[in-house]
Amino acid sequence: RPRVLSGIQPTADSFHLGNYLGAIRNWVTMQDTHDAFYCVVDLHAITAGHDPAVLRQRTRLAAAQLLAAGLDPERCTLFVQSQVPEHSQLAWVLSCITGFGEASRMTQFKDKSSRQGAERASVGLFTYPILQAADILLYQADAVPVGEDQRQHLELTRDLAQRFNGLFGTTFTVPEPYIIRDTAKITDLQDPTAKMSKSASSPAGIIDLLDDPARSAKKIRSAVTDTGREIIFDPETKPGIANLLTIYSALAGRSIDDLVGAYAGKGYGDLKKDLSAVVADAVRPIQERTRAYLEDPAQLDKLLALGAEKARAVAAATLRTTYERVGFLGPA
Ligand code: ATP
Ligand code: MG
Repeated sequence: RPRVLSGIQPTADSFHLGNYLGAIRNWVTMQDTHDAFYCVVDLHAITAGHDPAVLRQRTRLAAAQLLAAGLDPERCTLFVQSQVPEHSQLAWVLSCITGFGEASRMTQFKDKSSRQGAERASVGLFTYPILQAADILLYQADAVPVGEDQRQHLELTRDLAQRFNGLFGTTFTVPEPYIIRDTAKITDLQDPTAKMSKSASSPAGIIDLLDDPARSAKKIRSAVTDTGREIIFDPETKPGIANLLTIYSALAGRSIDDLVGAYAGKGYGDLKKDLSAVVADAVRPIQERTRAYLEDPAQLDKLLALGAEKARAVAAATLRTTYERVGFLGPA
């Protein structure tokens, strides 16, 4: 079975529909076709300032939501990044073969640092894509299921794998991005040209998995659309409606064409009302199961400890080889 690795940051109390449709839902399916490793990337979550107690809570919330969405520890390896120290260790080695100019070209850093003021952005936020490369390469992943926003980071990961292999001998599998085109970029309800984002979107722009359905309905009602009235799928001229149709189609399992046909002659209000019901149906079971997992944090921590142990067996083997290739003495 091909191996996959993907991660998600505990940077909010809830994941949003972009995370769910762009990543998590595919993670669930891939459990049956791939040897799947999924991690809650808490090391990444401290790159832009955080509160320790909130981070701890969000890490558990993240794991609970992933389990609730359908990840099954019997069929995948689910773990927390900081519990596998090899991630940081490999990141250092990779940072030493990454060019400063190369790292400077990462657009996510430019976006995120400009929000904080470039002078105040952390070096961790700058080297984040190198840690992400380590996350992936440690597991010798063949594919990485992510949203469109991660394409450039994936390209860097591939470059670093190839460079290391060239310099020190074949060590890493060069991973392929696995991006489901239709749902690769769910956009912000208030700014339908920007991606829906945990850290950048305003609350009104995000549909959270854990949002109360009435709240989501309100956000959908206020979603920015154009002034026309026709329900057609055209991301260029009608990005707001296209986004709503994309979400609807993905959650209801109906094609865009089918929806466009069904809403011919109807108004935006009808579409928004029905979409709210579709969203409510989709999130309800996830919310119920998330609550159940959170009721027993000790059990949750135990599941994660087992996941970390499984992950570590793979990660440690890759790091050992890497250290040897680089010329370190090896275990003292
Ligand atoms: P942050 O703003 O803190 O970076 P995020 O919303 O970008 O949060 P991440 O934890 O960085 O979420 O990403 C987790 C996964 O979700 C990644 O695979 C990413 O590509 C995917 N993803 C994030 N936003 C979207 C989106 N709007 N549409 C589709 N996929 C997305
Ligand atoms: Mg992100």
